[in-house]
Amino acid sequence: MEDIDTATKTHDPVCGTAVEPERNHCHVRHHDRLYYFCSLRCLLAFAEAPERYDDAYA
Ligand SMILES: [Zn+2]
Repeated sequence: MEDIDTATKTHDPVCGTAVEPERNHCHVRHHDRLYYFCSLRCLLAFAEAPERYDDAYA
């Protein structure tokens, strides 16, 4: 498998891990954006303090 299609990838805003949205079920919609996480633990950390992790949050 090649690993060059960066358009399909995003990063976990909490820990910075690269995640593949198509394979990842840990996500949350916030301010009309979808955020993907490597684990439920990171999702919960984001949910508790989104302003800490989201640069676009104001
Ligand atoms: Zn994570």
